[in-house]
Amino acid sequence: LFVVFEGGEGAGKSTQVTRLAETLGGQGREVVVTREPGATGVGARIRALVLGAPGSDTPSPRAEALLYAADRAHHVATVVRPALARGAVVISDRYVDSSLAYQGAGRTLPVDEVSWLSSWATGGLKPDLVVLLDVEPQTGLGRVASRGEATDHVEAESLAFHERVRYAFLDLAAADPKRYLVLDASRPVDEIAARVARRIEEMLVD
Ligand code: C5P
Repeated sequence: LFVVFEGGEGAGKSTQVTRLAETLGGQGREVVVTREPGATGVGARIRALVLGAPGSDTPSPRAEALLYAADRAHHVATVVRPALARGAVVISDRYVDSSLAYQGAGRTLPVDEVSWLSSWATGGLKPDLVVLLDVEPQTGLGRVASRGEATDHVEAESLAFHERVRYAFLDLAAADPKRYLVLDASRPVDEIAARVARRIEEMLVD
């Protein structure tokens, strides 16, 4: 089972990834927690390139899209597919939808081209479920800032950029509702975790 968490800045993805991993691990399942960008050695170097050191030059939008795609290609080939083949539950913090939202809608690259690039990179591997933690950018960015985690990369983007990202995620979910669980990220952590766990339970018994 391949589960992906998506959402804008400060949506609480990493908290929910951890909660789901604990729940499934507690049931004796093999769980592989991973993320994009940067889950592998190659990926960590790509992450440093795209997210940059303060003051370093940033890749152009097409270069950025290719770097995320390279990270993903390597991540899928070396982490995700082997784990799925063993029967593990793979939980990834971000995947293809982040590219459609950030590089496509955010940077205004043609979304169909970013989609093609992603499916080439992954060999067409799709998640069984995408949990979209939906948050208003102002709320999410406020959370990130209050944790002292606002990076130059995040701060460099306008509110309009983050709004485009948010609506791109929501549009993707609306276009394929069976594959998505859209949750209001402003709800309490426990409530969100319980809803995710319930949905995964249903999928595991099917
Ligand atoms: O999820 P995480 O906070 O680790 O992501 C790091 C940053 O990378 C995010 O702020 C997001 O803006 C950016 N990102 C991106 N395009 C992707 C994936 C992540 O711009 N495809």
